[in-house]
Amino acid sequence: MRAVVAGAGIGGLAAALALSRRGWAVEVIEAAQGLAEVGAGLQMSPNAMRVLDALGVAGRVEAEGFLPQAAELRHWRTGALHGAVALGDAARARWGATYVHVHRADLQAALLEAARDAGVVVTVATRVTGYADGGARVLTSDGDRAVDLLVGADGIRSAVRAAMLGDAPPRFTGQVAWRAVVPADRLPQGLVSPVAAVFCGPGRHAVLYRLRGGALVNLVAVEERAAWAEEDWRQAGDPADLARAFAGWAAPVAGVIAAVDACHLWGLFDRDPLPRWVDGRVALLGDAAHPMLPFMAQGAAQAIEDAAALARHVAGGATPAALAAYQAERRPRTSAIQAASRANAGLYHLHGAAALKLAILRLRPSLMRDRLDAVYGHDAVGG
Ligand SMILES: Cc1cc2nc3c(=O)[nH]c(=O)nc-3n(C[C@H](O)[C@H](O)[C@H](O)COP(=O)(O)OP(=O)(O)OC[C@H]3O[C@@H](n4cnc5c(N)ncnc54)[C@H](O)[C@@H]3O)c2cc1C
Repeated sequence: MRAVVAGAGIGGLAAALALSRRGWAVEVIEAAQGLAEVGAGLQMSPNAMRVLDALGVAGRVEAEGFLPQAAELRHWRTGALHGAVALGDAARARWGATYVHVHRADLQAALLEAARDAGVVVTVATRVTGYADGGARVLTSDGDRAVDLLVGADGIRSAVRAAMLGDAPPRFTGQVAWRAVVPADRLPQGLVSPVAAVFCGPGRHAVLYRLRGGALVNLVAVEERAAWAEEDWRQAGDPADLARAFAGWAAPVAGVIAAVDACHLWGLFDRDPLPRWVDGRVALLGDAAHPMLPFMAQGAAQAIEDAAALARHVAGGATPAALAAYQAERRPRTSAIQAASRANAGLYHLHGAAALKLAILRLRPSLMRDRLDAVYGHDAVGG
């Protein structure tokens, strides 16, 4: 059984590895000249770590990453705690796997190495442009491939999605994100706690967490904007603009921003849930299928879940029934998480009833943890 995976992002590499573990011969086709992930962090929640464990890469990711003790919501200016969820050992006890912060390049390298060891072929500088014959023929900038399965893991501007459903641009969400990584030794000791902290403020929020055993601190700072005029969705950011946008914020946010010497600014885009993800022998996965705001830290985690579920469903062949079952399992879950991610914008940016919700969280701290059970406790490996 031969599969082509379009895109060597986290989703595409996880799919390639999961398929090859189920006996598929896999070629990953990547448009970029080389494999280089964005210099930023990723939170990998237990639902994703459970899949990475089954794929044999969780140990490496844990060893190279950082295991936070808690996830916290805090006041933007005073830093006062609104609510927290215990992670560390508590995450493993409650959800059956660890919660890890990993540098994106480290996760990509771990998946790539394991995939190559399993016999996956990775072809770079080649673009998948579409498909024909119900997906039996993959069209690329380097000639056609005859396959039994085409996986469209080619991101939010997926060419495979466009071939399946038509070319509709993603929607600007009214949010932009600065991203930066700062060496911890440039910061006062103890400034950044060993947790994932979200500081919630009017019209913006900031997320801080540690990477690489604590040697790096990752910053994501999100601000509402009416429009994104840039052609590209990523541009070099000016640390001075970042500092201005977050002037007066709590000491950890202000301290990290003061140490930023280079950052990027991203326009955040998403889509409504797609009407379908499969067509003939073609299946979409990851951001190609369900781009979402990063406000539940679930985009890559859901791509990794998709990979496990797809490989399980097509273990006996990519039949229409197998692909329909994949879509039926995954679409409702990712649609709900897309919606929840959007809803978190209101909470984090103090819109509507956010003040009331945060007050309730302070009174009932277990609410935050209980709401995460369905997301973090999910087993995409076993189904
Ligand atoms: C600020 C921010 C913070 C985030 N934080 C988290 C987090 O903490 N946890 C989490 O789980 N998620 C997080 N996410 C979401 C996560 O980054 C994405 O959901 C995830 O990277 C999607 O992976 P993917 O493999 O589906 O797509 P991508 O990473 O976009 O990969 C697609 C790949 O396909 C290639 N490609 C594109 N077109 C073609 C083509 N035609 N042919 C061949 N190759 C092609 C691209 O070059 C790329 O390598 C965050 C996102 C943002 C913006």
